[in-house]
Amino acid sequence: MSTRYDVVIVGGGGAGLRAAIAVAEARPDLSIAIISKVYPMRSHTVSAEGGAAAVIRPPDTLDDHAHDTISGGDWLCDQDAVEAFVAEAPGELLRLEHWGCPWSREPDGRIAVRPFGGMRRVRTWFAADKTGFHLLHTLFQTSLRYPSIVRYDEWFVTRLLVDDGRVWGVVAIEVMSGRIDAITAESVILCTGGCGRVYPFTTNANISTGDGLALAYRAGAPLEDMEFVQYHPTGLPFTGILISEAARAEGGWLVNRDGYRYLQDYNLGRPAPGPVLRSMELGPRDRLSQAFVKEVDRGRTTDTPWGPVVHLDLRHLGAEVIEARLPFVRELCRDYEHVDPVRELIPVRPVVHYMMGGVSTDLVGATALDGLYAAGETACVSINGANRLGSNSLPELLVFGARAGAAVAEAAGRHTGPAPAVAAQARDEEHRLESDLLHREGGRERLATIREELRETMEQGVGIYRSGDSTAKAADKLYELRERCRNAAVDDHSRVFNTELVAALELSFLLDVAESIVRCASLREESRGAHQRTDFPARDDERFLAHSQIRRTGDGASTVSYRPVTITRWPPAERVYGR
Ligand SMILES: Cc1cc2nc3c(=O)[nH]c(=O)nc-3n(C[C@H](O)[C@H](O)[C@H](O)COP(=O)(O)OP(=O)(O)OC[C@H]3O[C@@H](n4cnc5c(N)ncnc54)[C@H](O)[C@@H]3O)c2cc1C
Repeated sequence: MSTRYDVVIVGGGGAGLRAAIAVAEARPDLSIAIISKVYPMRSHTVSAEGGAAAVIRPPDTLDDHAHDTISGGDWLCDQDAVEAFVAEAPGELLRLEHWGCPWSREPDGRIAVRPFGGMRRVRTWFAADKTGFHLLHTLFQTSLRYPSIVRYDEWFVTRLLVDDGRVWGVVAIEVMSGRIDAITAESVILCTGGCGRVYPFTTNANISTGDGLALAYRAGAPLEDMEFVQYHPTGLPFTGILISEAARAEGGWLVNRDGYRYLQDYNLGRPAPGPVLRSMELGPRDRLSQAFVKEVDRGRTTDTPWGPVVHLDLRHLGAEVIEARLPFVRELCRDYEHVDPVRELIPVRPVVHYMMGGVSTDLVGATALDGLYAAGETACVSINGANRLGSNSLPELLVFGARAGAAVAEAAGRHTGPAPAVAAQARDEEHRLESDLLHREGGRERLATIREELRETMEQGVGIYRSGDSTAKAADKLYELRERCRNAAVDDHSRVFNTELVAALELSFLLDVAESIVRCASLREESRGAHQRTDFPARDDERFLAHSQIRRTGDGASTVSYRPVTITRWPPAERVYGR
């Protein structure tokens, strides 16, 4: 069976909803389907805490925001993309205000902003520390206004339908019934979010398994800059739950086992009274996570059953500030760590948080495959370069979600289809799901074991620091895991809410994403932003001021090429913080 729409959007998070609204606004006559493996309000965007960056008032300028983003990204950002991003971000956040987003206010009624890591001016808008919740709610309720938007909630996309280099839709399973359907469209926008679950400790939701990355990769679209994986310096040690950068923005300190603010030893500035935006705890995430590893090496961290930790100290902020500005941080610490930050230190460690790389797109979200677009965390435009600055992702998904939506609306009607070959592909996929997964006999491997080994492999091989040796070992292990995965059993053969089948599909996506990260990390022989090679410790602009692009050429085979970075007005320079 197949159903046809003009536009299919995979993902009901911030990027997906923003893109859908943009299509519906521009062309009310187009039919739009949003397919999401979870109810949209459960998308990972809901958990964003700290805020969204956009220039709001002098003395801040668009050039300042652009420069912070580019320098934070260690000069790997495409500067034309960054210029478009900073110019459109304020309008997007204001539009959200008009749609009902309750931005926190100053006492005089103006929108409040807070400092954020690597941002040298105060420009992060926030809604207490539940920014993503309010942002997603606002988008969701706005999307309900448009009758042209149809939702497929709890439908899982397993494959892109491609014919002759063009994407014509998707195959998806309705999780509730097990029904498999081809949903065809003239354009598909992937808005499937990140892939933190490829690592063992992550702030990302269980659903962040990089499905869209793998779908695009398998269909032949290149993935860009996959070696750049962001660790956030402050996650809770066991669960990986994020303690938002907002906690440091409000004045929190990071201290080692001796109670010493160790960041002053890592060229990130010195303690100073008053709001010091350039330094210390408000340095960029890559540098802070790397400083943590150095503290471990110096024996200045505290051991726990989940590895070494340092502590985040909020006690000096007082109960009133914590309650008013960081209520969610307090709630998370109490519920999941049994500590009250008003009186106690919070144990933290770096945890995987964000994927800078993604499906390679141009400035309107178009990929190398005709008919396929991407936006949000799953895309690489690229504005984040080698290291994303906190609070740039929410405005990114608004700006580029809107751009992708406008672009598909503009392109609509140029192709009638789908091509006949697509129906055969949909039948193939149904057969694969039935025989390879639902009714495969005799597998002895456990999915959970493979998943755990995969995550450990990634932490060891392509963690905060990597080397030629560690990436080679990871590549060998991935090969073994891929082989073992062919033999893994799905014990649940039923069709109704078969979550084991979903887990098997997600694991196969994770393996593809892992392969692309490891391969690109092994080939980039330099250190830049979040990619730190112990065997190549310096940045090498001569060879690597370029985006990696990995393309699938066969099962387990790929080629990597490099595309020059677009430089407009900011020539490569040293990243300087805390002076
Ligand atoms: C804990 C946390 C806090 C953060 N805080 C901030 C912050 O304060 N500021 C900031 O700028 N950024 C923050 N970020 C980053 C930011 O929230 C994310 O990058 C962003 O929300 C991603 O949005 P998205 O729309 O791209 O994807 P998501 O919100 O992750 O949505 C992905 C969607 O794709 C769907 N999907 C995925 N695979 C499939 C499939 N196979 N079939 C069907 N549907 C599928 C899902 O159902 C979901 O609807 C934070 C991230 C985390 C994890």
